[in-house]
Formats: sequence, structure tokens, C-alpha cells
Amino acid sequence: MKNNQFKASFLALFLGGMGLQAQEHPPVGTTAVKATSKYDYQAAFAPNFYTKNGTDTHSASGQPGAKYWQNKADYQLSATLNEKNNEIIGTEILTYTNNSPDKISFLWMNVDQNLFKNNSRGKAVIPVTGSRNGDKGQIFDGGHKIKSIKVIAIQNGKTVEKEAKFEIIDTRMQVFLPQDLNPNGGTIKLKIEFSFISPNFGSDRMGVMDTKNGKIFTMGQWYPRMCVYDDVKGWNTLPYLGAGEFYLEYGDFDVNITAPANHIVVCSGELTNPSEVYTADQQKRWTEASKSDKTVIIRSAEEVTNIASRPAGTSTLNWHFKIKNARDVSWASSAAFIVDAAKINLPSGKKSLAISAYPIESSGQEAWGRATEYTKSSIENYSNHWFEYPYPAATNVAGNEGGIEYPGIVFCDLKSKGEDLWFVTDHEFGHSWFPMIVGSNERLFAWMDEGFNTFINTLSKTEFNNGEYKSRPRNMQRMSQMLTNPELEPIMTSPDGMKEANLGLLAYEKPSSGLIMLREQILGKDRFDKAFRTYTERWAFKHPTPDDFFRTMENVSGEDLNWFWRAWFVNNWRLDQGITKIKYLKNDPKLGVLISIENLEKMAMPVVMEIKTKSGAISRVQLPVEIWQRNTAWTFLHTSTEEIETITIDPDHVFPDINPANNVWSSDKSELEKAVILDTYLGNYTSKQIPVKITLTEENGALVGTPEEGQGPKLSFESIGKDKFGAEQGGVELQFNESKNEFTLKMRGQEFLFTKV
Ligand SMILES: [Zn+2]
Repeated sequence: MKNNQFKASFLALFLGGMGLQAQEHPPVGTTAVKATSKYDYQAAFAPNFYTKNGTDTHSASGQPGAKYWQNKADYQLSATLNEKNNEIIGTEILTYTNNSPDKISFLWMNVDQNLFKNNSRGKAVIPVTGSRNGDKGQIFDGGHKIKSIKVIAIQNGKTVEKEAKFEIIDTRMQVFLPQDLNPNGGTIKLKIEFSFISPNFGSDRMGVMDTKNGKIFTMGQWYPRMCVYDDVKGWNTLPYLGAGEFYLEYGDFDVNITAPANHIVVCSGELTNPSEVYTADQQKRWTEASKSDKTVIIRSAEEVTNIASRPAGTSTLNWHFKIKNARDVSWASSAAFIVDAAKINLPSGKKSLAISAYPIESSGQEAWGRATEYTKSSIENYSNHWFEYPYPAATNVAGNEGGIEYPGIVFCDLKSKGEDLWFVTDHEFGHSWFPMIVGSNERLFAWMDEGFNTFINTLSKTEFNNGEYKSRPRNMQRMSQMLTNPELEPIMTSPDGMKEANLGLLAYEKPSSGLIMLREQILGKDRFDKAFRTYTERWAFKHPTPDDFFRTMENVSGEDLNWFWRAWFVNNWRLDQGITKIKYLKNDPKLGVLISIENLEKMAMPVVMEIKTKSGAISRVQLPVEIWQRNTAWTFLHTSTEEIETITIDPDHVFPDINPANNVWSSDKSELEKAVILDTYLGNYTSKQIPVKITLTEENGALVGTPEEGQGPKLSFESIGKDKFGAEQGGVELQFNESKNEFTLKMRGQEFLFTKV
């Protein structure tokens, strides 16, 4: 589905975030109180991220387990469109296969049109301020009407139909089976007679639109669809409230749509009877299109109003489509359609077909005249990068939806043009991979379809037509206030549990930004792509959970990423890295510089720094995230040989640092710490009170105390006052006398005097 909340919420969140920043973090160089760190390295890197171990259905390595199973739903669907009252009357023959190890005595099905009934739960949760979901207050007789459900069986060689009892609860329908459905492959056949009147606006996913040359019907959620029965929750029966999308079973579809003869019908899958529904001329053009990389017009703008552009002698026509291994099927019908098409080249050498259907209002090269070119490019791009497109056609339909995806067909805003049309087309067809090929549970985890899709869209956008619509690299520093605003729910929240205004960020932008960071800053492009491709291949036409994704990314890349998932997906943590101080070794820039940094918020990230010296030489320092595994602050030696001009944390703004003010040290504005000259303290010391000998030496600007073999651990001391040094580990302090030939060692409340030998 199109992300239409993002732009609106951007400014409000950004401005809101700026206020917070000003309050929480005074800029470096002021006399304000030093910020205390909220970072807890034990929380960030805690073991046992996974709340359950791998099973024989979902392996610990993130792949489907040895005993993975899923059920199958095959549909034969026939429907008639009544153009006058927007009614769809249909019959469904469902063949359901129970591959689970359980007996099943009832089925749960989705009757999603019930969202548009007046007493639906989805209507009840729409705020008075309005929503993208629901039917926008249209008064009509909405909802799925189920005339009958029959079990079809063969008895004594004859087909018999027996009424089955059923109960409808909001958008779910429970069908009681006359006898249990056997585990491990038992099948049942149901015949369901249904109808509904389509809303004009169907929760931005289906509807009816008036255009100059007739209504456009874009039909989704139109037949009773099987709920998924899986090894995670059993029956997945969350109601359709509006925000949460779908979780559906795979199967083969055979679809017959009867529409007025002046209509053109497009549908998921392949049209099997073109000779019955297109003119001889149009059939020739289809053949031409199937061999052409350039868009071929099947029915032009001029032909839409020409009666000769439709087969003569009948008031209705039946359109027959087939699609295999899909989780849903949708269609569109209109007398107003201009149709064009072009060949799609797939990596294996197979071909598919890009098709667009749109009204005259949307025509022209600056608008839908390029829709087929966009469709072809997207499908080819994603097929090359991730997984080959499996369906015989990809049809882009202009409707009154912002943008919505179905297998092999999408509905995009008929008013979209230029870059917007590219973007929505690319996004909706990107969904062919998530969730159409990789069948995750959208109703619970929107980030696994919208987020993954938004991520692959960023790559496709850069590559389209030599960068025609390429955007500037994202500034994660600027986006940080928005992406990690404390008001946000974590990404892992179900879409129905998020504020509607946050969905655009949490389901689309934030997961996508996280994957970009993981790819470009943490794993590197090749390692990331290999892991992400493996996830797609492993779970193609299956039902992965979040852990299957996390585990696959870790197992294939060979990297423990628990800290990353925890900060970005499971929690809504923030990042603030800062430079605390720098000092030259022995106050001599030729000997190198000690740079101290700090992690101030709950999120850990690797550190990238740019160091510029007085002569203008620039170098980059990269520190792995492991520096934060047991530290809140970190000091390291940079082997520069001249004075430092500036040090900048994250110079490319690739991390979501909420407080850039403390990211820069500059020689003209920031303080330079004086190193204590250690020479006079160095030497060998003994004590009369205890039989211990200690040698003090200097290592990288620190005073290092080494007891004689077997007398204790080596300790590193920092200057903490006049002639006073402390060791962070062990709580040990050294206080020298004025002439620096004696020191008192304080440890666990005891004091020992040491004298230089
Ligand atoms: Zn989407």
C-alpha cells in the first residue's frame, strides 16, 4: 500500500523533535552541565535476544525447518459485475488442503467487505477526525452477503452438496465441517455463494470511480478468503480493521468475470480466452506487445469511445483468468480503459507482460502513458536483484486508490503523474516480492512487507532510466529526530496498534532506513544483499516470522545483530555519539592524539570519524560497535603527526544521531586537554608494608603499573588530580608526594606507601 502519511507527519515530527533537542542537549562549548549517559551496555548487548529456540518448522538458522508445513487454498471464482448498482455476485469453489499435523473441525475465513457494514469494529475505531480506512462515510448497503455454504463431496460416484453451518463475527466467518478434516493432506471442497455492493472508497484498497467514459471498478477483498492456519498461532483470525493488511494462504486460482461487453477486464494472472474478449486487431497488438520492449497500444484513447473497439453482438462477456501459486486475486473492469503493454525480460530468459489500463483523464507521456515502461522496469529490476518474478503478467490499473498491491496486479492513483507515478508503480509492484512472493503476516508485521518493499524501492529508484528520478542520499542525522521520536511506538507494533499518523514512519521509512544502515554501514552491500536474497529465496511462497528474518540475516552474514534489532525494531531507542575530549601524547602533536568519545543514548552503533589536520590532510577512522559492548566512554590513539584542525563524528550523516552539536571537535572552538607529563613518575617502586614491587611505565599517554610476576594484574592509570592517578578497573588510586619519589596506593580502604628504588 502507498505510504501517504509520511509527508504530512514529517514536518510536525521534525519541528517537535527540534524542540526536544534544544532542551536535552546544550551545544558543546557552553558551560552547561555535562550530559549524563543513558547508555546501558548490558541492556544493549544482552544475550538471549530470541524468546524461543528454533523448531522443526522454523529452524534456528532462519530457514524453514525440516518439518515445515503450510496449508493450501485453491479457488475457482466466478463473478458477475452489475455496473448500475456496483454489485458483485459470485460463486466460490474452494479446495482447502490441510497439511498440518492437526485435525481441523472448522475453518476460519475472511469476509473483509464486512468492514463496510455500519456496525463493524473497523468503523468503530475510526476517529472523528477521519481516516484513510473505512468507506469515508458513504451511506450504502455494504458488507459480504453469504447466501449459502455447501460441502461438495463424491458419494457413490455422484457429486453431492451438503449445507454447512457457518457463523459470521465481524470480518471473520467460521465454517463448521460435517466431519474433521484429516491432518497431513486431507482436503475439503466448499461452494460459497456470495455478493456485496462495493463501496466507492474501500479503505483505499478497492472501490468504484466515475470517469468521463464510465466507472472504473477496482475489486479487492471481494471473495471470502481463507485465514491462515499456521504453526505460530493456529488460526490467524485478527479482524480487518483497516490499517492491518492481510495474511493469506497460497494456492491456484481460476477466475471467471462476467462484465458488460463494452468493458475491458484485467485481473491477476493470465487471460486464457483473448479471442473471445478482444477484437482481431487488438489480438494482433497483444502479440506485438509480447515481443516488444517499447510500449504497444492495445486500445488507444481515440478507440475508447469507438464501438468497434469491442467485440460485437453480445451484452456481456466472460473473461477467464488463471494464476498459480498466488495468495490472492484481484481485478478491475471499465468501459473507459485505454490499454497498453510491453514485454518483461526475466533473468532466466522467460518473459512476462507489463500491462496498463487507465482512463483518458490519465493519458499522456507525462502521466500514465509511461505506466507500462515503469512497470516493466520495476519488475525487471527486482527480478535481477532478489528473485525472479513468477507471474505471467503485471498489470497497473488507474483507480481511486492511493496505491495498493495484489499478486500480478496493482491499483494506483489515476491522478499520479511523472515521478509520483513512477514512485507509486515501483512501490506497488515491489510488493510482488513482499508480501506476494514472501508471504509474511501483514496484519501483525507491516514492516516485513511495507518496510522491506520501501527498502528495495530506494535501490530501484536510483537505477531507473540512468537515474531519471534518483534522489539525494538520505540524511539520517536530519531524519533522526523523526525516526526515533520518543512518542513513537516500536516498529514491532502491529499496524492496528500504531497511531495512524505514525504508520508511514514505522511501517515504511524506519524499517527501510534501518536496512539501508545495515547494508551500507554495518554489513556492507555484498554481505547484506546475499543475506537478504537468501531470506527471499528461503521464504518464497511461505510464511516467515520476524525471527526467521533476523536469524537468516545473522546466519548468512555471520554477524550477531541482536543489538541492532533490539535498538531499531524491538525498541524505539535513540543514538547520540559525542566527542568528549582530545589531547596530544606528551602535549606533542607529532606523537599522536588521544580521542575520547562517549555514547549518550540507549542505542549503540559503530563510529565513523573524519579527522582533518592543520595541513589539510583528511583521514577516516572506523570503530566497530564492539567498543560499546562494555563501555559507555571510549578513548583511542590516532597516530596523526601534526596538529588537528577538526574531528567530525559521522561526517556523511549516515547514522541517526539526534544531537550533532557534540559530534565536532575543532581547534578554534573546542578545548584541548593538556597531557600530564609522566616522565618524573616513572620507575621501580617497593613498599616496606607489603612485599610487592611495582614498575611504572608510560603506554600511549597512560601511566601503567606492572607488579612483579605473580603479584597482581597490570593496571592502567589516568590523571585524576594533582599528582593523583586512578585506575578504572579495580578502584585503585595512586597519590604522589611533592618530590614524586613516593606514592600512596589506596585500595579497598587500605593504604600502602611505595618508594622509588
Ligand atoms: Zn505498500
